[in-house]
Amino acid sequence: MTHVIHRNARQEYPFAVAGDGVYIIDAGGRRYLDASGSAAVSCLGYSDREVIAALKAQLDKLCFVHSSFFTTEPMEALAEDLVSDAPGGLAHVYFVCGGSEAIEAALKLARQYFVELGEPQRTTFIARKPSYHGDTLGAVSAGYRQANREKFGPLMFEGAYVSSCYAYRETRPQESDAAYAARLGAELEAEIQRIGSEKVIAFIAETVSGSSLGAVPPVPGYFKRAREICDKYGILLILDEIMCGMGRCGTRYTYSQEGIAPDILTIAKGLGAGYQPIGATLCSDRVYQPIVNGSGSFSHGQTYIGHAAGCAAALAVQRAVRGRGLIDRVRRLAPELEAMLRTRFGSHPHVGDIRGRGLLLGIEFVADRATKEPFDA
Ligand code: PLP
Repeated sequence: MTHVIHRNARQEYPFAVAGDGVYIIDAGGRRYLDASGSAAVSCLGYSDREVIAALKAQLDKLCFVHSSFFTTEPMEALAEDLVSDAPGGLAHVYFVCGGSEAIEAALKLARQYFVELGEPQRTTFIARKPSYHGDTLGAVSAGYRQANREKFGPLMFEGAYVSSCYAYRETRPQESDAAYAARLGAELEAEIQRIGSEKVIAFIAETVSGSSLGAVPPVPGYFKRAREICDKYGILLILDEIMCGMGRCGTRYTYSQEGIAPDILTIAKGLGAGYQPIGATLCSDRVYQPIVNGSGSFSHGQTYIGHAAGCAAALAVQRAVRGRGLIDRVRRLAPELEAMLRTRFGSHPHVGDIRGRGLLLGIEFVADRATKEPFDA
């Protein structure tokens, strides 16, 4: 009898007792090959000695200190490391304990930015349908998953939603990528106008859609157009790279492949690779300076923000990723894996689409290839 509220109350879970590279080992000695790094988390496997040593060394010195009173060397060094090569001027970092918390911080940061500028009437986030940005109430409100709405809808804040960029299902016959990107841009612009641009805080999207659509990259030009529209109407662009960032898609920051930069970015998962629970919200000077010059502090705080052990582990992970050339390796291996998937599954009667970016690759199963009828319909 367990006292734990597990993910599925009706399921029995094996006891995981050890990790060995890409394997998880249970209490009976059975080895499980984790081919996806959990939910796109464990990019260094489960037993990286260098990261574990760095974490232990930090714990020997200092495990935690409250961020109201102190800063720490690993937190400063990790922030420096993250902004050092972030294109587009992301220069400030707020550390939290995971992806949903990074989204909550991003939403509040965006809102506070406009409050500091004297525009408190801005209350609306425009997100995409479907999308997933986490499971806390703000993150659930900012995303769109039917199941969440059914249970928690009355508790959620009212957002606005535009179509996700989902070329496999949503492009019209003969429609080019450019025309599709333009159509989605027009939809976003129309939604901003419908709400009233002076009431909109931000447009939020995953650079490459992870769990909501299954490894769906944007069509070329989509984010350029979204960026132009955000700029035209003076609203912020928040990109969520909690799943697709930190190298999985072939560059540390996936948005760099789109030729644009967000005002606010969220990261987690591969940031700490599972060695510690950590996430982060990055923002540009444009967003941060009004807060510095206005009220002087971001009105958000949790006991464990900037946790010293979390930052030390993530710093070691990031140094390992860089030092071992792992992002170059993603770029080398991605075409090989994609080619293997196409060879093996390309003509399977229930495989509708094989797509993705870098090593965030997905296969969409369908009941019928011709009609694209969903597999579970
Ligand atoms: N945003 C995206 C794109 C995600 O994929 C996830 C988790 O899967 C989250 C946010 C939430 O992150 P977490 O589960 O760490 O709270």
